[in-house]
Amino acid sequence: MVQSTPYWWETAPPTAPPQVAVRSKCDVVIVGAGYTGLSAGLTLARAGRDVQIFDRQRPGEGASTRNGGIASGSIRPSYRQMVRRFGKARAAAIQFEAKAAREDLAAFIAHEAVDCEFQLTGRFTGAAIASEYEGLAREADLLRKELKVEAYAVPRSEQHGVLGTEFYHGGQLRNDIGGLHPAKLHHGLLRLAQDAGALVHGETAVLGFVQKAGGYQVETARGRVQADHVIAGTNGYTDGFDPWLRRRLVPVRSRIIATAPLSNNLMAELMPRGVMCAETRKLHYYYRPSPDRTRILFGGRDGTIAGEPAWPTDNLRRALSDIFPVLDGVDITHSWYGHVAMNRDMIPRIFSRQGMRYAVGYCGSGVVWARWAGQKAAWQILGDERGGSALDFRPPAAVPLFNGKPWFLPLVFAGLTLQDRLNRPRRRQQRPSAR
Ligand SMILES: Cc1cc2nc3c(=O)[nH]c(=O)nc-3n(C[C@H](O)[C@H](O)[C@H](O)COP(=O)(O)OP(=O)(O)OC[C@H]3O[C@@H](n4cnc5c(N)ncnc54)[C@H](O)[C@@H]3O)c2cc1C
Repeated sequence: MVQSTPYWWETAPPTAPPQVAVRSKCDVVIVGAGYTGLSAGLTLARAGRDVQIFDRQRPGEGASTRNGGIASGSIRPSYRQMVRRFGKARAAAIQFEAKAAREDLAAFIAHEAVDCEFQLTGRFTGAAIASEYEGLAREADLLRKELKVEAYAVPRSEQHGVLGTEFYHGGQLRNDIGGLHPAKLHHGLLRLAQDAGALVHGETAVLGFVQKAGGYQVETARGRVQADHVIAGTNGYTDGFDPWLRRRLVPVRSRIIATAPLSNNLMAELMPRGVMCAETRKLHYYYRPSPDRTRILFGGRDGTIAGEPAWPTDNLRRALSDIFPVLDGVDITHSWYGHVAMNRDMIPRIFSRQGMRYAVGYCGSGVVWARWAGQKAAWQILGDERGGSALDFRPPAAVPLFNGKPWFLPLVFAGLTLQDRLNRPRRRQQRPSAR
């Protein structure tokens, strides 16, 4: 029987704090109690602000306890694409900020003693077709020269030292990315925010808000609140409480399967260095060993927008055994999904509009970005100069013909699947004979 709840919940299930009365006044209302909302709440409460954080589900039940736990702080567009779209200065500043955000997460976990099994394992990105290997090697050079990140190309002949597969044509290894237990990170943040004095209301939706008398009147499912500031940290779960925001963030289902425990020998053969993994396919997969290195957690786009059919799980099983043929038919214990938030230019954002703060749009890389952006939004409210950010520029544009239901995603999924299929013969032709 495959569980439809996250593997992470076996050891750190989301819980709703005991319900207490909603206070009718406070300094800051935060919508969403994932990494973004809790990080903002922690920063504000420690600065002495009176904060209430609302989540319509149990805190963390959004993406923050469902994700792969790969602490990448990735930016989807390439550096070249960013230069074209935003200019060289912003493109470089975003790259530097990603590095600072990754380092800050590691320092935060250590300093606050958050028990979330963080390990700076490194990440391997596999070239799905041979011509992509050169691009990954060039990027590794740039990472070393420009960002002083330890990164290098791994030719196919040496790939088995990193990943036990013939599937890729070599790849890139960078040492500044690691893995953690995402639900334990969330638990740690929740405890710290509550200890600092933030009041967290689970299972209490924010229904809407209006600007009033230099602040906001916020309607919640359990009463009205007058607040000086509001922060939206709702990312891929943004609902009708802010229709303007909802038109700008496309919720995309991402799914992960967990294998049953594998033998030590097999894990050592398939994942000898225990690194996090990514790849260059259009519909790319991300995967990793569990923190105790007994299983493989394998994720990718789900492809559906409603219901819970079996085929996305079957797709992931197939993709897993394409990479590791020895895992064909392996038992799967968990298969679950959650929502990531994509925006039109695929850059995470911190911005304000009519006084309201937003920290959203991490495009599937929020383990690093969400905590960082929540903290930045809080610093902005506090008038702290550390609130400055290269991610703080014009809000993402509205997505045409989209009002919250991503009807076009199955078409996008089919298109990307087709592109990868068309590339498949090239992959086969280019693949040298097996070991
Ligand atoms: C399957 C999966 C795998 C992923 N893997 C990775 C990974 O390996 N690495 C990585 O960096 N990122 C990954 N991500 C992305 C990452 O999990 C998110 O970017 C991050 O958790 C976002 O945090 P958040 O606090 O902004 O949003 P969330 O954790 O999604 O929280 C938003 C919250 O807002 C609440 N909410 C919405 N509307 C309202 C309302 N009206 N009133 C009250 N509450 C409301 C929701 O209930 C929700 O709990 C993955 C995501 C998924 C789903």
